[in-house]
Amino acid sequence: MRILLLPGDGIGPEITAATEVALRALDARFGLGLALESEQIGFKGLESYGTTLHADVVAKAEAAAGVVLGPVSSASYPPPEQGGINPSATIRKRLDLYANIRPSRTRLGVPAVVPRMDLVIVRENTEGFYADRNMALGSGEFMPTPDLALAVRRITRECSQRIGRVAGQVARRRRKRLTIVHKANVLKISDGLFREGVLEGLKDFPDVAVDELLVDAVAALLVRTPEAFDVMVATNMFGDIISNEAAELSGGLGLAPSVNASDKRVVAQASHGSAPDIAGQDRANPTALLLSAGMMLEWLADRHQRNALAEAAAAMVRAVDAQLATASGRTQDLGGPLGTRAYAAAVAARINSGL
Ligand code: NAD
Repeated sequence: MRILLLPGDGIGPEITAATEVALRALDARFGLGLALESEQIGFKGLESYGTTLHADVVAKAEAAAGVVLGPVSSASYPPPEQGGINPSATIRKRLDLYANIRPSRTRLGVPAVVPRMDLVIVRENTEGFYADRNMALGSGEFMPTPDLALAVRRITRECSQRIGRVAGQVARRRRKRLTIVHKANVLKISDGLFREGVLEGLKDFPDVAVDELLVDAVAALLVRTPEAFDVMVATNMFGDIISNEAAELSGGLGLAPSVNASDKRVVAQASHGSAPDIAGQDRANPTALLLSAGMMLEWLADRHQRNALAEAAAAMVRAVDAQLATASGRTQDLGGPLGTRAYAAAVAARINSGL
């Protein structure tokens, strides 16, 4: 089973190396038969191939069983005509990774803003307000005159239905409760269609209890009663914003994992950016990417009906939770003493120990 590692920029190479250490430990313990392969993207890709995302790398990502994508410093890239292509956005679009699944939960012993949270945000990933990926040609953002800027938000029935189905699947494996997040009181037509499409996608999930909330209410309720939420489904930008809020409330972006998935492909990706301020200093917390890789294994377990992959995914979560439970086991962003490499080695040792 081929897994492609794309380390990216800033802290990307350090946290991807940490993830590789943990994946190799899981591979050895559970006999997963993983073949790990790396390719350069981002500034290293620009140096080597003249582009931050070479077409061959996209083809390799398409052919791999799964991809681990490190964060990228896309905000600092040169313009596209000089090779600066956002790998994250392009891979999501080219592989049609329409579901961004972002869990947030408080973890034993780890300081958090809220006492208890355990939820999953299912974010539509291919349309909405994301101007760089919501059009077949051109951009969804444009300027008819120097003093008038417009942004087009695309919502389709099909994309709303398919994200509804994924949200139903996620909810079915948890507490079978789903909240549709929208702003259909103002965006009556577009969020109205999103709501309708999601409900249509949920028609095969009669066992899932569905309610709905306006996004502004969700922003407040996440702070007030986070334990009341289980699974939420939202359009692209609302999902991006409320998932970052949830991640921060539950302990910080450094802990927030995600996968981007279609029905056929999966890409593990931390929710945070490339943290250039701490890059190359062995200070990055690799937890988010480790847990993302665990989510990728769980997704692969479902797709390939291989229980060993599900066991490996669960072992990753147990090892990280045990590692985070004591202050002396954490990285510096969480007040601990460990560097990235020592933390990864400790997580791998827990995996090896049969935890
Ligand atoms: P950031 O998430 O990189 O960093 C914000 C703060 O959090 C920084 O102080 C950073 O040191 C800290 N931080 C983030 N991840 C950490 C980790 N794993 N361990 C310890 N500390 C961590 O956000 P930013 O500074 O706004 O963006 C930096 C670059 O990342 C930009 O070029 C931006 O475009 C890019 N970015 C990429 C992605 C992605 O690849 N998916 C996502 C967001 C931002």
